[in-house]
Amino acid sequence: MQLVDIGANLTHAAFRADLGEVLSRARGHGVAQIVVTGTSVAESRHAADLAEAHGLYATAGVHPHHARECDASTIPGLREIAAHPRVVAIGECGLDFNRNYSPHPDQERWFEAQLELARELGKPAFLHSRDAHPRFAQVVKAHGIEKGVAHCFTGERPELRAYLDLGLHVGITGWICDERRGTHLLELVREIPADRLLVETDAPYLTPRDLHPQPKARRNEPAFLAHVLRAVARARGEDPEALAEATARNARALFGIPA
Ligand SMILES: [Zn+2]
Repeated sequence: MQLVDIGANLTHAAFRADLGEVLSRARGHGVAQIVVTGTSVAESRHAADLAEAHGLYATAGVHPHHARECDASTIPGLREIAAHPRVVAIGECGLDFNRNYSPHPDQERWFEAQLELARELGKPAFLHSRDAHPRFAQVVKAHGIEKGVAHCFTGERPELRAYLDLGLHVGITGWICDERRGTHLLELVREIPADRLLVETDAPYLTPRDLHPQPKARRNEPAFLAHVLRAVARARGEDPEALAEATARNARALFGIPA
């Protein structure tokens, strides 16, 4: 099985002590390539450094939680990081009206600025949306973004339809394994066209709840991507090997990653 984890927060402190082992476990479980998520200018720089050091890929962006910390240096900083050949997308960027760590006007302003940067650089957008439908889709549409992924999709059908209509890819995480809040995804995931589907762990977050035994400190890691992939394959009634191949092909095409 050959998998691409399109979203792993490997700059997180949870991986500081044993990143080498985490990466070798990932390879042992079929994860051929990993895109490290950048969530602030500093974290994006760190993500690009990890990508360079370990043969990974990275995104450069500011998560909506951090929108209030943005200033005139943010976009130039991201532009500089994005010039690195292993930085394959702009983001994660978007709107998060669930936690509201940053005021909505700040979130919208810096989301739009990053969409413009993605367009300027011709790179796909790595998009985060939480409880922000339909505003999120309106902003994406207004900026003419057609190349991107709605990462960690957890929404309902109208939101999924909106993203597919926009031409976006959809990233599925271990949320689909959550018997408390993810069961609606078992049905919705069948509606994602095979050429738009991507899989991701969002490690160290979103450890699949049906993983037994649960890992130490419940830390999620890229090696568990095969578990997520199998859950998606079961829900779609498809062969896991074929689905893995399709999602890896989609990821490589979207991000311009060589096989
Ligand atoms: Zn996110």
